[in-house]
Amino acid sequence: MKKARNTSLVIKYILLTTAVLTLALSTILAPTNLRVFTARLTSLTSHLGIRSCTTTTTNTTPNMAYEKELKVAQLAVARASILTKSVFHEKAKGTLSKDDKSPVTVGDFGAQALIIAAIKHNFPSDEVVGEEEASSLREQKDLSSKIWNLVKDAKLSDSDSDALLGGPIQTEDKMLEAIDQGNSAGGDKGRIWALDPIDGTKGFLRGGQYAVCLALMVDGDVKVGVLGCPNLPVDDSEPLAEDVGSAATDAEGKGVLFSAVQGEGATSQPLTRGPIAKGTPIHTKKLSNISDAVMCESVEAGHSSKGDNAAIAEKLGITGKPVQMDSQAKYGSVARGAGDLYLRLPVRKDYVEKIWDHAAGDLIVREAGGQVTDVNGNRLNFSLGRTLKENKGVIACPAGVHAEALKAVQEVLGAKGIEVRYGS
Ligand code: AMP
Ligand code: MG
Repeated sequence: MKKARNTSLVIKYILLTTAVLTLALSTILAPTNLRVFTARLTSLTSHLGIRSCTTTTTNTTPNMAYEKELKVAQLAVARASILTKSVFHEKAKGTLSKDDKSPVTVGDFGAQALIIAAIKHNFPSDEVVGEEEASSLREQKDLSSKIWNLVKDAKLSDSDSDALLGGPIQTEDKMLEAIDQGNSAGGDKGRIWALDPIDGTKGFLRGGQYAVCLALMVDGDVKVGVLGCPNLPVDDSEPLAEDVGSAATDAEGKGVLFSAVQGEGATSQPLTRGPIAKGTPIHTKKLSNISDAVMCESVEAGHSSKGDNAAIAEKLGITGKPVQMDSQAKYGSVARGAGDLYLRLPVRKDYVEKIWDHAAGDLIVREAGGQVTDVNGNRLNFSLGRTLKENKGVIACPAGVHAEALKAVQEVLGAKGIEVRYGS
């Protein structure tokens, strides 16, 4: 009797091991996420009447990973977007020119203050790598008070959500302090947030696309990414209009919030004044032929080489015009399959990309089934400080066509004599 029970147990375990290996293989080949794999495993083991061996797997499933961080990030981005939307409608946006000649507006400063205050309220020892700093504002009192007027009035319509972010910032000085807390040097240790309060400031000024971008890195690895894109359509299935980057109206009913947590997929939902709803899963498009890809590129010729983009499109047989838009809205569009191929090709040898321009978008695209690398095929490395000093350019697209896209990029850049490390 006992022998028969032992034999049946051995058979069950052999069956289970075979099934686990088959599931693992199918997970790798068709990249379903870990949660699906674990769910299938759990159902299989319970079917076989084996409980103990799944306990560890179930407990380590990152189901609830970074739940609070995600919620705070989503709400903080939503609240900051209320402020940026109010500035978007103003003709005079309180624009300054920074040392690197790039523009910054009252919207950038205000959004950075609101987001950092929310992070510090919830996670006081976390650091923030933020694009802006407040030294120029301390000298320009009128600009500072203009920002303060916006910041003190920006609140979510849902009071519980607003309270979770710590409520309003108390004083103008505290607002300036918050802006300056974006001064982390970044790196590969501990919890560090990467923040671009308005990515695509030039688009914001032109009436185009822009994005409020926030990502949490732990030991240099991006764990949570959130993008607020106030001027993108809510509907994930809406094709990218040719003028999406130039005729933004910020009309009611527009605006999308993209989110991702490492290992848990990517989602989208309408960008609202709170509370945060459950997002809808998004996926990159399944392309059977790369020539069908919709390309996305920067509006600004100084940010990405349009000539190289065109040469690569020709090599890949892509005949459609690239859709031009500012900001990480390009990453969001690729992640939901509205665009397919985002190329950012170096125009200047000495330009080094900043982590806040890519951290959230990189995770969102990868969690939606895409692949993001530089022109050498290397993953973007966020652990080296405030910049992506080991990367050049960006290629973001569905994982299935990435190798083909990379090959075309390397052939075009290589033919121009631009040094690319083939096959690295
Ligand atoms: P996009 O809207 O995609 O064109 O990118 C906007 C971002 O480009 C800004 O946030 C800047 O940090 C960044 N940027 C500024 N100059 C350059 C450059 N020469 N090459 C690449 N990116 C740049
Ligand atoms: Mg930016």
